[in-house]
Amino acid sequence: MHDELNPNGALSSGEDEARFHFLKNIAQMQNIAILMQTFDDGSQKAVFVSDEFAQMMEGTVEELTRAISEEGLMRHTHPEDRPLVKNMLKRRISDEGTSDLTIQKITLKGNAIWCNVHYAFIDDFGEHYVYCTYFNVTVLKTYEERLRGAYTSMGNTFYQLDERTLAIFRVNLTRDSIEDIRGLDLFDTDTVNRSYSELLKLRAENYPLVEEKGKILSILDKQNLVENYLSGKVSVKEMAYSRRRGGKFCFITLEANVTRHPMSGDLIAFITEKECNNEKVNSVLLEKILVQQFDMVSFIAGGKYGVVIGDASRIGKGSIFPTSRTGDYVQYFESQVRPVLHGTDEYKKSIVASLSPETIEREVSLREPYQVNVAIEIEGEVYHKRFDFYSVNREAKFYILLKSDTTEIQKEQIVRNEQLRIALEEARQASVAKTAFLSSMSHEIRTPMNAIIGLDNIALKNSNLPPETKEQLEKIGMSAKHLLGLINDILDMSRIESGRMTLKSEEFSFRGFLDQINTIVDSQCRDKGLRYDCLVKSKIDERYVGDDMKLKQILINILGNAVKFTNSGGSVSLSVEQTAKFDKQTTLCFKISDTGIGMDKEYLPKIFDAFSQEDATATNKYGGSGLGLAITKNIVELMNGNIEVESEKGAGTTFTVTVTLTNSENANVKIRDFSLDPKTLKILVIDDDEVALKHAQIVLDEIGSESDIALSGEEAIEKISGKKQIGDAYNLILVDWKMPDEDGISVTRKIREIIGHETTVVILTAYNWAEIEEEAKGAGVDSFMSKPLFASSVVSEFKDALQKKQAAMDEEIPMADLAGRRILLAEDMMINAEIMKELLDMEGMSVEHAENGQIAVEMFEKSGAGFYDAVLMDVRMPVMDGLEATRKIRALDHPDAKEIPIIAMTANAFDEDVQRSLQAGMTAHLSKPVEPEKLYEALQKHIGARESNSGENIPGGGYDV
Ligand code: ADP
Repeated sequence: MHDELNPNGALSSGEDEARFHFLKNIAQMQNIAILMQTFDDGSQKAVFVSDEFAQMMEGTVEELTRAISEEGLMRHTHPEDRPLVKNMLKRRISDEGTSDLTIQKITLKGNAIWCNVHYAFIDDFGEHYVYCTYFNVTVLKTYEERLRGAYTSMGNTFYQLDERTLAIFRVNLTRDSIEDIRGLDLFDTDTVNRSYSELLKLRAENYPLVEEKGKILSILDKQNLVENYLSGKVSVKEMAYSRRRGGKFCFITLEANVTRHPMSGDLIAFITEKECNNEKVNSVLLEKILVQQFDMVSFIAGGKYGVVIGDASRIGKGSIFPTSRTGDYVQYFESQVRPVLHGTDEYKKSIVASLSPETIEREVSLREPYQVNVAIEIEGEVYHKRFDFYSVNREAKFYILLKSDTTEIQKEQIVRNEQLRIALEEARQASVAKTAFLSSMSHEIRTPMNAIIGLDNIALKNSNLPPETKEQLEKIGMSAKHLLGLINDILDMSRIESGRMTLKSEEFSFRGFLDQINTIVDSQCRDKGLRYDCLVKSKIDERYVGDDMKLKQILINILGNAVKFTNSGGSVSLSVEQTAKFDKQTTLCFKISDTGIGMDKEYLPKIFDAFSQEDATATNKYGGSGLGLAITKNIVELMNGNIEVESEKGAGTTFTVTVTLTNSENANVKIRDFSLDPKTLKILVIDDDEVALKHAQIVLDEIGSESDIALSGEEAIEKISGKKQIGDAYNLILVDWKMPDEDGISVTRKIREIIGHETTVVILTAYNWAEIEEEAKGAGVDSFMSKPLFASSVVSEFKDALQKKQAAMDEEIPMADLAGRRILLAEDMMINAEIMKELLDMEGMSVEHAENGQIAVEMFEKSGAGFYDAVLMDVRMPVMDGLEATRKIRALDHPDAKEIPIIAMTANAFDEDVQRSLQAGMTAHLSKPVEPEKLYEALQKHIGARESNSGENIPGGGYDV
């Protein structure tokens, strides 16, 4: 086209005019064109302006013709382009030829337009013309500008080098060439002289991991990048492990961004390679850690979830992994979680509520993570899952959701629980074994103790002993008894620890209970020179239901300590008070006080610990094991009671024990039995002191009792005899102990001669009757009272004494004479058998010895009726034990089989053993070591009972321990 437009050669000759017109005509052929004549001074004159040019320049042909002629071509050229046009015109002015420029023209209205201008220079015999044709490229030009801007900025971004940029390539994908390479860590092969494909292949050798190498080759492949670009994906990124120069290795990210070159239209890729060890390590670590703990890492944003890390295939069975990696959270829950929930409807409801978006939103703002444990069931198996929610942005409702499988943990928990159970069971077994050991040890220790105490007793019976030996034997006896006490304590403790200590629930007489305690403690106090008081501070029932033996053990332990830790001259007291009474139960509060050595405040918290003693030195003069109070506290707690202690060093100690006993249906049976109206009482008061008599009469008058008085024994006897003759008798006689002519005891003896022992109650009044108690009782005194008298105590003491008297009469059994009796002794230990023989021998009894139960049964079976008077039966024996032997004897077809007293002897003083021997049919039970007095008493009692009942003995009827 240019050639045609350039009429140069064809116009080399012809008329001026003709030429000019020719030129003008040619110019007119062009749509946008002008023809100018140029002059040496640089000015121009428009020869021809086309309509289209005028249009392009937003003016008329005339306007433009004038403007070019007056102001020259420069006037409408953009100032930036003027030098370019000026130079071109100057250079070409005398030439012929052509030139092209792309410049901006300014229209008459001031708008800029881009034009490609073709200048053709014509020299017509010294006259110069320029013929300009224009091509408006404004649209193209703006587009190009924009592209160039984008290209430049992309280039700028990727050409930014930092210390982690290893290499940057500008690659022309269209031409498969490298345009530029920069970077801090280039390989020798990184040169622009090779094709991109070749470079890529060479570089790929630096990716040692086969998988990664393949991936990078395919991602960065030029065809792939072009296809990506055409489908709208301008950027790809990949991580890899790469070898570097010098044999180093590091993690890299490769990123390719593709754009079209604004001028050439070629596709250009900017490829950067950056070191990313930190990112890699962080992401790997994060992923590893997360993956280890959670089977899914996801986020929830505005109700939609997206899985970040996680792989359903890794979970295997029992998976509730979302079936798609993104979706609606509620939909996921409803379709995949809710249907498999495992548990009660209640439970399912609670899970549905806990995992609702509202709950998550609320809870996550309170604490993080918000955790929900979920039990699910899939194909009959139960799995446990945990959902952890973290808040990222509350307003956007953007949360992180971590899901983990806790089934194994739960299983482990079960296994651990099982292991614990086994360990517990083993410990329990060990404890059982320990108790069994202690129990058998008790037997083992008590058997030789039996020998020691028994022989010691026998030796002491010898009246020819030198005093020194006697003292030594007494000390041996005391030490042996002490040792026995310790063994008993340890056994008690082991029974408590093994939970084998049980409480009986039996009705007992509270007064009898207090009496027994007072008897023991009173004598201990008397021995040590201490004052002892027992106070009943409120109304107390006659009878309660509970374990009186254990309660006694508690009080005796504490009282024993009070006596032990109080020096001569001090005092010990026991008080009891009813602090509450309900329908079925009564709370009693016992206070045990002493004025003894007391304890330090620091010691008090430890006082109930096993083996604790304030003075634990070897020189501790009080002895003991430190077990007493530990046992005491345990028993109190077994009774649901409470024990407290207050103490002050040097001032004394007070223990407070509170226990609750069950009320007895016969709580006050005694009063009902005797429903005694004091008015019906006929009382005789004997005292040499007139004042005392007067006082007694006043007191008794007050309660409406009729009373006689006597100033001497003699006078009393007269009155009693007189009454007897008229068939009237006194119910109660109160006799003073100390009287000048004749003392109360001797008077009582005389009274009993007249009225016998039956109905009348005799009470001796005194200030202190401790020393004469036995003698007085022997004389026929039923009870004692201190002066001055109080009406209520007279009545209650009378009732009490009468009840005891009747009970005693009911139980009265003749004591058999032991001399000449024949005893069958079943005992496997020879030394014990020897001792028993000696003891029985001393009372004139003969003994036949059986080495075990079986021999005893045989000997009894062969014996004739009435041959043996009693059987003494050891319980633990080889071949056949005592229990078995007793059962066999009771079952024999022998006239004495049912009635013969069988007395058990065992080292096991446990209640269960007593019960077992009772069940086996034994009559009584003696604990080893057997004390001679108790042995004789038991034999007298049971042989006597059998004889008086003439064969009607009920086994166990007169049972005592
Ligand atoms: P034991 O008397 O055999 O040493 P206990 O358990 O009965 O064991 O008593 C523990 C300790 O408590 C005693 O050793 C003594 O130090 C202290 N203790 C107990 N009762 C009293 C008391 N009434 N007065 C002073 N100290 C006492």
